[in-house]
Parts: sequence; C-alpha cells; structure tokens
Amino acid sequence: MRFKTIMLRLFTTFIICLSISFNIGFYSQHVVLEQRRAANNIMLNDKFTEIYETLEAISAKYNIVADTSMRVQHYAKPHMVYQDFCPECGDLWGKKKENVIFVPIDQLSKLYEMERIVLNLPEQTKLSPELEPPVNIETELTSLLLILKSQSSFVHSLTQIEENTNHYIKNHMHISPGRIGKCPECIELYEKQTTLTQPISKKRHEELLKIKNGFNASTN
Ligand SMILES: [Zn+2]
Ligand SMILES: [Zn+2]
Repeated sequence: MRFKTIMLRLFTTFIICLSISFNIGFYSQHVVLEQRRAANNIMLNDKFTEIYETLEAISAKYNIVADTSMRVQHYAKPHMVYQDFCPECGDLWGKKKENVIFVPIDQLSKLYEMERIVLNLPEQTKLSPELEPPVNIETELTSLLLILKSQSSFVHSLTQIEENTNHYIKNHMHISPGRIGKCPECIELYEKQTTLTQPISKKRHEELLKIKNGFNASTN
C-alpha cells in the first residue's frame, strides 16, 4: 500500500513536470513565433513602404514631364485662345482667384506644426511598428496594381501628347496628328519605335528569304 502511494505520487509529479515543461516549451515556441511574425510584419511593411515611395517619386517625375509636354505643345501648335487644361494658357491668361494662394506643402506643414505647438494641441500618436496590424499582402498587391495601371494609362496619354507635338513641330502633311488622326508619318514613326530589330548580315538575310520563298512555294 505504502509502495503504491509512493508510485502514484511519483507518477503524478512526473505528469505535472511533463505538463509544465510542455507548457513552457509551447509558450517559448509561441513567443518565438510572435517575434518572427512581428519581424516579418516590419520587414514586409518596410518593403511595401519603399515600393510606394518609389512609385510616388516616379509619379512626381511624370507630373513634370506631362506639364512640360503640354507647355511645349502650346507652342508647337500655338494656342491663339485660352485652352482648358493647358498650364501655359493658365499661366498666360488664366483667371487667378484673388483669395487663394498656393503654398509649398513642406512650408505649409511646418506652419501647421507651429500652430499646433502655439495652441497646445495634442500631437498625433503613431503606432510602434511592433503593434501595427499584420500586413494584408493581397490588399497591398491590389493597391499596387491599381497604382501601376493608373501610371500605365498616364504614360499612354503622355505618348499621345508627344506624338502630337512631334507632328506639329515636324510639319507633317496630314491634317490630323498621331495614330488617332491616322497621320501616315506618325504611324510610320510609331512602328519604328515599337518594332524590335536585330542586326544580321545582308547575305545571310537573303539566304533566309530564299528559303522562305521556297517554303511558301512548296506549301501553296
Ligand atoms: Zn495653351
Ligand atoms: Zn503626323
């Protein structure tokens, strides 16, 4: 009886020890996973932030190119009267709003910050990176695709503006500019710009053409 009691106690102690060590192991594993998740989250957050910042920098450059292109077009086919959406027309003849002033964003945010300090308003608190909610990769990728597609359509419009400018500066004979206007010279230039070519000797090319002609004759 005494022996059985001792065995039972030993067995109970063994189970308790096993359970504690299992729980400690489980807990430390959980902590490691949490730390890894937080580290992954910070790493993903940083990468996505870098991608967004790069796209923002590209957009800023596109804005300069678009603004300049429209100003060049203003002179390529001189605007005699005010045209909506032309920045040069806007600068030359646009009506200025007397009660509105345009201030650089950096200067304005410094002014707002000073106002906040003077008026003793609360500062906006930021979440520390560890406490930020997990990055939803699907949502981030969807938003990146949206930005890229809008940049793609923006570049498409830009190529049309450039095409028109080239048409007018080069005095193409066709009345309407660009591929939309079906100008043969604009179409020819576009084909040249978009067809990939590779150098090859004339002799070798002639050989290949002969083979092609023979091939076509045998299949017809
Ligand atoms: Zn203009
Ligand atoms: Zn043309």
